[in-house]
Amino acid sequence: MKFKKIVVGNWKMNPGSLKEAEKTFLAITKGLEKVKGVAVVICPPAPFIYALHKLSGSRKIKLGAQDVFWERSGSYTGEVSASQLKEVGAKFVIINHSERRALGETDSGANKKVSALLREEITPVVCIGEARRDKEGLFLSYIENQIKTIFEGVSAAMIRNVVIAYEPVWAIGGTESMKPTEIYEMTILIRKILSSLYNNKIGAEATIIYGGSVNAENIEEIMREGNVQGVLPGRASQEPEPLAKIIGAVASTHR
Ligand code: PEP
Repeated sequence: MKFKKIVVGNWKMNPGSLKEAEKTFLAITKGLEKVKGVAVVICPPAPFIYALHKLSGSRKIKLGAQDVFWERSGSYTGEVSASQLKEVGAKFVIINHSERRALGETDSGANKKVSALLREEITPVVCIGEARRDKEGLFLSYIENQIKTIFEGVSAAMIRNVVIAYEPVWAIGGTESMKPTEIYEMTILIRKILSSLYNNKIGAEATIIYGGSVNAENIEEIMREGNVQGVLPGRASQEPEPLAKIIGAVASTHR
């Protein structure tokens, strides 16, 4: 297991200024002084990565991006490559987020992004998750197809370097997270799919985190009953206080 415990904060398109971003980032960094055993990653808007990376000093906090393009360079206006992100300090990149998918991104695009990131030794944080649930359970095969498409061609040696973020789209940006027992069930499914695609060891040791309305109130229950190595909070990662509670709860979970 590459990451025993990990918290990936997605700042989305916030805050509005670099000054605010630096202030929040420094407050988060300060709160980490006594925290042990958790990888903490902040994914700010791309133009802020370099400045925050320079501020990060402490090895305890890592920078990530919220998307990447799969080509190395060329005429791709508006896109940013994995090597460019690496150069400004990004060690992680969230890909396939549902808010990007809503703008037209696909699983086959995510597949190319995974390879581009692994080539640069950047950890892909791969979001998967169904948009809705149906009584017939078709969402289960949707998840299976997502995993198969996104990881096609990714070797057993490389898949260990990936973080899978299970984010049921219907739970993102709401008021309630998914029930921890349901999160648990989904981790079993994901491990089973990985075991059949690769082997049992990879299935058992994959780093799986949960995202979707995680906050300071529900984090303990999610970590106690959800069978995940950590979480991907969006809104709750944009303020130092709730994020500190989330990181603290992940740190004190026995795994
Ligand atoms: C996210 O941005 O992936 C997310 C889960 O957001 P929130 O925690 O705000 O639901």
